[in-house]
Amino acid sequence: MTQPALDLVIAALERIREKSDRAPCASRTALARLQAAPVAASLREACTSPTERRLQTRNKADLLAAVRERVRTCTKCAHLACSRTQTVFGVGNPDADLMFIGEAPGADEDQQGEPFVGRAGQLLTRILKAMNFAREDVYIANILKCRPDMPAGSFGNRPPTPTEMQTCRPYLVEQINIIQPNVLVALGAVAVEGLLGTRATMRELRGRWHTYNSIPLMITYHPAYLLRNQAPSEKRKVWEDMLQVLERLERPISDRQRNYFL
Ligand code: URA
Repeated sequence: MTQPALDLVIAALERIREKSDRAPCASRTALARLQAAPVAASLREACTSPTERRLQTRNKADLLAAVRERVRTCTKCAHLACSRTQTVFGVGNPDADLMFIGEAPGADEDQQGEPFVGRAGQLLTRILKAMNFAREDVYIANILKCRPDMPAGSFGNRPPTPTEMQTCRPYLVEQINIIQPNVLVALGAVAVEGLLGTRATMRELRGRWHTYNSIPLMITYHPAYLLRNQAPSEKRKVWEDMLQVLERLERPISDRQRNYFL
């Protein structure tokens, strides 16, 4: 089946599931195969005219909206479904070339329903700006769509558990399959563990290319790390990782940009 045809099948099944009181008839294996398939993989190359590109973006936006709706009502982690204010699905351009993956919503994200809007998020937005991107140009999502719950009366955040990450991961996989970015960036070791299942130190992981499903993946520090470690040398490491991303995307880089934090 061609990718556009696959898109249509998935969209149709989603519509039946959303609108009908009868579940669509498809075996679990067939559905799992469809969900895991790289949706719209070849559309980017196939669609060149502005009209085709707009249609592709709308198609991807529709597909994402269907997943968002399933996430909105998800209760797979009963404890998180009880504790969350709302789910935090993702934000940005459904047809983005560049996609960032974080860990999980914090308190601010849980309140606002958007990833990376707290202090770490504001730093991510500044990093994007330094790369000449707006938040609307890229796509930003997390491994977990719910804020990890905290014991009553305690503050701060806790990292997601391996079980929570495994449970939520299929939603992220669907997001990546729909968006089909040219480059992925994982922010921090927890994001890497959630995406690749690899446990390693950031010293081992960051600063070089990895792949997820044939998509080039850059691993860099989480912006929260930079908030805790404000040394110019640490900022420079993240910036060098972002320079590699810009190069991979064939974006222009000025001399000024090359020298940030030196
Ligand atoms: N940290 C994350 O990893 N994700 C967010 O959305 C906010 C903070």
